[in-house]
Amino acid sequence: MDWTNNLFGDGRFLGIEWNTWKVIGWLGNAVFFSRFFLQWYATEKRKQVVVPPAFWWLSLAGSGLLLSYALFYRRDSVFIFAYLFTWIPYIRNLVIHYRHLDAHTQCVKCRVECPPHSRYCHACGTKLAEEMAGHEAGASRSE
Ligand SMILES: [Zn+2]
Repeated sequence: MDWTNNLFGDGRFLGIEWNTWKVIGWLGNAVFFSRFFLQWYATEKRKQVVVPPAFWWLSLAGSGLLLSYALFYRRDSVFIFAYLFTWIPYIRNLVIHYRHLDAHTQCVKCRVECPPHSRYCHACGTKLAEEMAGHEAGASRSE
């Protein structure tokens, strides 16, 4: 059939001569490209611009694959430079994200995780004990 010749013509799939590095490179492209759809989906779902942590994980994985493709297969300085330092903001965003999660306080009453520096539980209104021990203890209140 004609369409099979277009797909697999000359022993190439989609006109691409495949080898292990081509698979790694295209996998990198797929992973890197998928992050845009993930971020878009997250934003549409919340009706607010959101960058979920998975976006940074996909960025890190995709750029890592593309960097290894550029470094070991293409050996192209322009291509190498494009992905050489992008991991720095990706990792930094992940570090800040997980630190922020760690800084949450769990409500003793309803077990809901409350954002850092919360004085009261946003779900049940209970005063958060940890916050009292930290900020409130230092600040003396006069009546
Ligand atoms: Zn609560």
